[in-house]
Amino acid sequence: MNQIVPLVAETKPMIDPFGRSITYLRVSVTDRCDFRCVYCMAEDMTFLPKKDVLSLEELDRLCSAFIAKGVRRLRLTGGEPLVRRNILSLIRSLGRHIESGQLDELTLTTNGSQLSRFASELADAGVRRINVSIDTLDPARFRAITRWGDLDKVMAGLDAAQAAGLKVKINAVALKDVNEHEIDDLIRFAHGRGMDLTLIETMPLGEIEADRTEQYLPLSTVRARLEQNWTLNEIPYKTGGPARYLEIAETGGRLGLITPLTHNFCESCNRVRVTCTGTLFMCLGQEDATDLRAPLRASENDTLLSAAIDEAIGRKPKGHDFIIDREHRRPAVGRHMSMTGG
Ligand code: SAM
Repeated sequence: MNQIVPLVAETKPMIDPFGRSITYLRVSVTDRCDFRCVYCMAEDMTFLPKKDVLSLEELDRLCSAFIAKGVRRLRLTGGEPLVRRNILSLIRSLGRHIESGQLDELTLTTNGSQLSRFASELADAGVRRINVSIDTLDPARFRAITRWGDLDKVMAGLDAAQAAGLKVKINAVALKDVNEHEIDDLIRFAHGRGMDLTLIETMPLGEIEADRTEQYLPLSTVRARLEQNWTLNEIPYKTGGPARYLEIAETGGRLGLITPLTHNFCESCNRVRVTCTGTLFMCLGQEDATDLRAPLRASENDTLLSAAIDEAIGRKPKGHDFIIDREHRRPAVGRHMSMTGG
C-alpha cells in the first residue's frame, strides 16, 4: 500500500530550548541592493551567484512551511527586497496566508527606492505596513550614507506608499557625528506625517571599510538628549519586533528604540531568519546556521524540511554578544546585514 505523505509541514509549534515560541520569520529574498550604506556593506560587495539563490517558488514553499509551523508574522527583507525580479508575484502568492487567517502580517523592510513603482501593488497584495529606512533628511548626507541613494526618489516612494494606504514606519540607524544632530528633525518629520520612527544601534555585522567604533552611538545617550526637548512616556505598545516604544507627548507619535548593544532584548526573541540561499540563522548575532535548501530540494513534500527546521530551533542560542569598543574592532559575525536581512 502506498504511504500517504503529508504535503505540508507538520503543524507542531516551534519552541526553542529557552521556552520561546518562534512566531516571526524574516526572509532575505536577495542579497543585492541598489544602495551601499556605509555601515551595512562595503562598496565593492561580491554578491551570490544566481544559481545559489532560491527561486521565488522555493521561497514560497519555505515561507509556507514556516507558516504551517506557527509563524504568524513574515517580513521580507534583503538586500533590497524590491530589486528582486518578480518579487510581487511572491508577495501576491504569500498573501493567500493572510486571506486564510494563518498569517497575521506580511510586511517588508525597504530602502524606499522602488516604492513609487510598487506601493499600490503591495497594498493590493495584502501588505498593510512597511518599514522604510531613512537615516537622514539631508539629500547630500543621504547620498554620503547610502553612497548610491537619491533622497528625492525615496520621498516620492513614501508619498506613494501613504497614498496607497500603507502604514509606514521609518527606521534610522543612529550614527555618531553623522545624523545624531538630526534626530529631533526625524521625529518631527515622521510624526508630522503620521509615521512611527524607530532608531537602531549599529551592530557589528560584517567587515566594512569604516571603523564601527567611530559610528557607534548608544541610544542611551540619544534618549538622555531627547529628554531635554521632549516628554517621553514609556508605553506597552508592541509590534512583535525588538523595539521598545516611547510616546512623545508633544507630537503624540511613537518612537521605537532597538538597542542590541545597550539593552539586549534576547529574552523575548521570537524570531529566526532565512537567507536567500535557504540558510536558517537562529540568531542575528551568532554564526550557527542550518541549511534548508538541501532538504527543500531533496523532496517534494516538506517532511525533511520540517525536521531540519525543528532540529535547528532546538539549537537556538540564548542571545547575541555584540560589543563595539576599541578592544573589539572585529565584527561579531562575518556576514553583513544584507545577507541575513534587517
Ligand atoms: N534594503 C532594505 C532597507 O534598507 O531597509 C532592507 C535591508 S537593510 C539590511 C535593513 C535594515 O538594516 C536597514 O534599516 C538598515 O539601515 C539596517 N542595517 C544594516 N546594517 C546594519 C548594521 N550593521 N547595524 C544596524 N542596522 C543595520
